[in-house]
Amino acid sequence: MVETFDVIVLGGGAAGLMCAIEAGKRGRRVAVLEHADRCGKKILISGSGRCNFTNLHCRPEDFISANPHFAKSALARYTPADVIALVEKHGIRYHEKTLGQLFCDGSSREILQMLEAECQAANVEVFVGTKVLEVAHTDEFIVRTASAEFRSPALVVASGGLSIPKMGATSLGYDLARQFGLKIHPPRPALVPLLLDAEDRKRFCDLAGVSSEVIASCEGAKFREKMLITHRGLSGPAILQISSYWQPPAPVLIDLVPEKKVTSAFEDAQTPRNLKTMNAAVREFLPHRLADRWLELDAPSSFTNPALADLERRAHSWEIHPAGTEGYEKAEVTAGGVDTDELSAKSMESRRVPGLFFIGEVVDVTGHLGGFNFQWAWASGAAAGRAL
Ligand SMILES: Cc1cc2nc3c(=O)[nH]c(=O)nc-3n(C[C@H](O)[C@H](O)[C@H](O)COP(=O)(O)OP(=O)(O)OC[C@H]3O[C@@H](n4cnc5c(N)ncnc54)[C@H](O)[C@@H]3O)c2cc1C
Repeated sequence: MVETFDVIVLGGGAAGLMCAIEAGKRGRRVAVLEHADRCGKKILISGSGRCNFTNLHCRPEDFISANPHFAKSALARYTPADVIALVEKHGIRYHEKTLGQLFCDGSSREILQMLEAECQAANVEVFVGTKVLEVAHTDEFIVRTASAEFRSPALVVASGGLSIPKMGATSLGYDLARQFGLKIHPPRPALVPLLLDAEDRKRFCDLAGVSSEVIASCEGAKFREKMLITHRGLSGPAILQISSYWQPPAPVLIDLVPEKKVTSAFEDAQTPRNLKTMNAAVREFLPHRLADRWLELDAPSSFTNPALADLERRAHSWEIHPAGTEGYEKAEVTAGGVDTDELSAKSMESRRVPGLFFIGEVVDVTGHLGGFNFQWAWASGAAAGRAL
């Protein structure tokens, strides 16, 4: 059986559905091919079931890419205000949780239902359970699946990254980029917990569950948020954010007591200089179990002014050398991907292969934690959909 369309979209996630809606609204006959038994599985599990669908303070600086300018055009043409207008059109109630992050009051399901309703209104045909076996290119694109052959003059690759394989992630997008000769930046897990090395694991991981506000920094990036000790390493928003910048063998620096001075008590000459007072001082700024452990492992050699200054310095710059990350099983996104130099910033179309488009997470644009990855999916999807 051969099916012919104006546009074939590979992948029915956030970016693919948005692209299909925009192209469908322009009268294009659009097919979405999705290998899972339903579209948008990641939308359903996002934001702990409440989908952090955008961020009010979305700026180009919130995205990581080898070309930090690439995302600007698409982001400027489909903004958080556009997403909010769509969400409100569908009567979805939402709230700002923190730092501009917008979440559904109810459930992520509402966002997926909104996209499915828009697809239906735009006459988009969605084929679920449809695994792509092969893509060929003549004067049109030919997509072969187990049950049919789909043909179209335009092919949009929206198959996402490698994160969470059990949700249906595959390497299709990267494989197609290679097949068509497009450069890719090696994919890597991002927004992912870090593993401590064996020594630090022994020293700290029995404190799993302890969390504290820190500044985590690496490669010039800095995030002040919560850090959480886990059974194998570190997590929490500060660590997830910095993980997107970390690549071995770079160290990650952690300021355990941002803008605080743990040794300030000793500026008073009356304060006795001993371990007991020191412990009380550190406990003021850190969770007690972490404070106790910190001093136990790294007690000052004396209480002289230089020794106290050294302790202060170490509290602000705990240097960790992660043994790795928790990998794609736990990574919220995949950094790296199709080199943006290969794509038009206006339409996401390949410069080498006219009619071939890449959108969403498969492209080398990765958002910070906080609704930015969906904003990129919507914006890049809309950019391609409006160009088709
Ligand atoms: C647990 C978790 C929570 C998250 N929470 C948030 C959040 O709250 N806010 C936020 O901004 N971001 C969040 N993200 C990130 C966000 O989900 C992604 O960045 C976004 O979904 C990317 O959209 P996409 O359309 O590019 O890819 P995807 O949503 O991954 O969609 C790709 C689609 O392609 C399909 N596909 C893959 N391979 C094939 C193939 N071979 N043939 C056919 N179909 C294929 C997949 O099944 C999938 O449906 C979260 C991610 C995870 C894992």
